[in-house]
Amino acid sequence: MALDAERIRKDFPILESVYNGKKLVYLDNAATTQKPRQVIDRISEYYRTYNANIHRGMYAISVKATEEYVRSKEMAAKFINAGSYREIIYTRNTTESLNVLALALGEKLSRGDTVLISTMEHHSNIVPWQMLARRKGIALEYVDVAEDKSSLDMEGLKAKLERKPKIVSMTMASNVLGTVNDAKAITRLAHGAGATVILDGAQHVPHMRTDVKELGCDFLAFSSHKMLGPSGIGVLYGKEELLESMEPVLGGGDMIRSVDFQSSTWNELPWKFEAGTSNIEGGIGFGAAIEYLNGIGMDNVKAHEDELTAYALKRFSEIKGMKVHGLKGDRFGERIGVMSFSIDGAHPHDIAQVFDSEGIAIRAGHHCAMPLVTSVLNEDSVARMSFYVYNGKEDIDKVVDAVRKVKAVLKIKD
Ligand code: PLP
Repeated sequence: MALDAERIRKDFPILESVYNGKKLVYLDNAATTQKPRQVIDRISEYYRTYNANIHRGMYAISVKATEEYVRSKEMAAKFINAGSYREIIYTRNTTESLNVLALALGEKLSRGDTVLISTMEHHSNIVPWQMLARRKGIALEYVDVAEDKSSLDMEGLKAKLERKPKIVSMTMASNVLGTVNDAKAITRLAHGAGATVILDGAQHVPHMRTDVKELGCDFLAFSSHKMLGPSGIGVLYGKEELLESMEPVLGGGDMIRSVDFQSSTWNELPWKFEAGTSNIEGGIGFGAAIEYLNGIGMDNVKAHEDELTAYALKRFSEIKGMKVHGLKGDRFGERIGVMSFSIDGAHPHDIAQVFDSEGIAIRAGHHCAMPLVTSVLNEDSVARMSFYVYNGKEDIDKVVDAVRKVKAVLKIKD
C-alpha cells in the first residue's frame, strides 16, 4: 500500500463529522481539500502566540512572523524545485496568479499577437485571456481535446504553434477529465516556437511530484487550499529573470523600495508583487501543509490515487448505464484521482443530492470548465468525485452503493 489512509484520516478532525446520520465521505477534493490538525494548529499557534504584521516590525513577534512566512516560501520553492523563494509570489489562489500574469505579460503584447490555451482549461485560464483579448485586440486560440475526448491533441498543438503565439498557457491536469497532460513536451514545443509558457498546476501540484526545472516552464500557478493548506493563498512561480523584467500589477505598501510625490521604485523579489499586508496566517499554514505532504511523499500520493482510480474504474465498469469520462484501461495512470461521470436517466444534481443523503460529498455541474463540458463532452453537467490522501477503497464501495440508491430512487431499470 502506497500510504496508510486509515492513519492519515485520524489527522483530519472534519472526517469524524456525521452528516445526515452518516460519517462524512469527502470526495470533492478537486474543489478544495480538508485540513489536517497540523495545519489548523499552526494557524492557531500564530494567532495565539505571535500575531503581528511582517517585515516592518522591530519586535520579537513580528520578526518571528516574518521568519515563518519566509520559511513557508522556502518550503514552497523546494516543493516544486524552484531556484529560491525569490521565485515564489503569494497570491490569493491559482485564479489570481493567472490574472496577474495576463495583466503583467499582457502589457507587453500588441494587437494581432496570439495567446494559445486549450479547450480543457478551467475558467481561470480562459477568462483572464478573453479579457486581455478584448482590451488589447490580441487573438485567443485553442488547442482541442483529441478524439478520445480525454487527452490533449498534441498534433493540433504543433499546428497551432506554427502561428507563433506569444504566450502558451495550459493546464497540467484537467479538473474534469483527470487527464495529466505532458507538460514537459508542451513546454519544449512552445519554447521551440518562441512562446512564454505558463502552466496551471492547480490539479497537478497537489497530486504528484512537480519539478519546474525539469518542466522548464516560465511560470506555474497553484493553490494552497487544494493541497491541505488554507484558502486565500495561491502561488505564482516565475523564473527569476522573467519576474525581474516584469512590472508589478498592484501598487501600495511593501512592494516599494522608495516613494516620492511623483514616482516609486520597486522592492526586490518576491515582495515586488505582494502589495499590502499579506495573508500571513495563510502562508504560515501553507508551510505546515507542505510539511505534511512531504511527510507522506508525493510519489506515494500519486501511487495511492492510481490505486483508487484503478479500483473505481473496475467497480464502475460493473454498473450498467454508468459512464466515466476520461482515460481508462491501461492509461489510468495518466490521470489524477478526479473522476467525472454520468448515469443514464439521472441528472447529475439528483445524483449529488442522493449521495448527500448518504453522507457522500461530490460535486455536480460544469466544474468551471463550461467549454469542455458542453462542447467536448456534450453534456450540460456531470457528476464528479475526486480523491485525496485520506480516501480509501471503502469510500468507493460506498459510492457504488449510492449509485444503486440513485437508480432505485429515480426508478432507473438495470
Ligand atoms: N485550474 C484548475 C485546473 C482548477 O481545477 C482550479 C480550481 O478548481 C483552478 C484553476 C482555480 O483554482 P482557484 O479556485 O484556487 O483559483
